[in-house]
Amino acid sequence: MKIRENLLKNKKEKPDFSNLVFGKNFSDHMFVMKYEDEKGWYDASIEPYAPITIKPGAIVFHYGQETFEGLKAYKDENGEISLFRPMDNFKRMNKSNERLCMPQFDADFVLKALKRLLIIEKDWIPTDFGTSLYIRPFMIATEEALGVKTSSEYTFFIILSPVASYYKNGIAPTSIYVEDFYVRASEGGTGEAKCGGNYAASIKPYIEAKKKGFDQVLFLDGSEHRYIEEVGTSNAFFVIDGTVVTPSLKGTILPGITRDSMIKVLKDKNIPVEERKITVDELFKAYDDGKLDEAFASGTAAVISPIGKLSYKGKDAIINNGKIGEISKLLYDSLTGIQYKKNEDKFNWLMKVE
Ligand SMILES: *Cc1c(COP(=O)(O)O)cnc(C)c1O
Repeated sequence: MKIRENLLKNKKEKPDFSNLVFGKNFSDHMFVMKYEDEKGWYDASIEPYAPITIKPGAIVFHYGQETFEGLKAYKDENGEISLFRPMDNFKRMNKSNERLCMPQFDADFVLKALKRLLIIEKDWIPTDFGTSLYIRPFMIATEEALGVKTSSEYTFFIILSPVASYYKNGIAPTSIYVEDFYVRASEGGTGEAKCGGNYAASIKPYIEAKKKGFDQVLFLDGSEHRYIEEVGTSNAFFVIDGTVVTPSLKGTILPGITRDSMIKVLKDKNIPVEERKITVDELFKAYDDGKLDEAFASGTAAVISPIGKLSYKGKDAIINNGKIGEISKLLYDSLTGIQYKKNEDKFNWLMKVE
């Protein structure tokens, strides 16, 4: 399929890259591609970023048939652009599409389109350490139908947003509310898919935790409310007596690419790491025994977000005196070292855009 280009003559004024609010500024252009059952994917184009027309009866508005991804592009001082494990994002999006009964797309084609879009938008990629161009692919169901069914029409988009370093004022550990009532996902649900519906349901617990003075929520499993699942929109890690533990992928948590990268870095450095079930009681027992060394969350946006405090049923665990721990620091440095080309890319995770 050919990618049509309809480019702006007059580009927007760029925002101040040193003063960006996450996800509030969008670049000049976006990638758009359409799908219909009879035709398959068609009409791929790079268009100005602008409001779109969708019929009010479109399925996405009524039953939330939507999936998305989040990844980043980096640019070095020589203007060379790179992506971090982009095919993993597109493969994961196709898995999410499968769960939501949405069509598969050709990941190689979409990668090609993304590279072209990034070259057109290269001036939108900041270069300072910690900054990047956040890439948001998403797909929506556009057929008009008020019956609950799978749509026969979809639109796929990629939009771009320059983002500042997550840690402009240094890495600050967060205080986390362990949620014992609301759940994010349960077995057989859509927890492992990156779909909008999961997030709609997670906002209420988040707002309630904020009101109590916390930064984020740690969700427990949906049936017993005992097992650790995720921290907001990031994967959870704990260092217990020198061993790094993270919940195993059992269908209810999002298989994070940052999570996977961390596990690989830890294995490479011979630091013991386990993917298994962890109960909240085990964590607090380890804390009481002085063995809960570190806790952190992992995701594309922040890479690592250290946890300084966990609060569960009125009991607080203050972890590593509320400071970033050694293993958290090592993982942060390893991943950002690859992304910002300070370290050798020994896992071959960076993909050059040319
Ligand atoms: C996107 C996401 C993550 C992190 O995934 P990465 O690929 O590491 O960015 C974790 N949990 C949830 C719920 C997510 O949506």
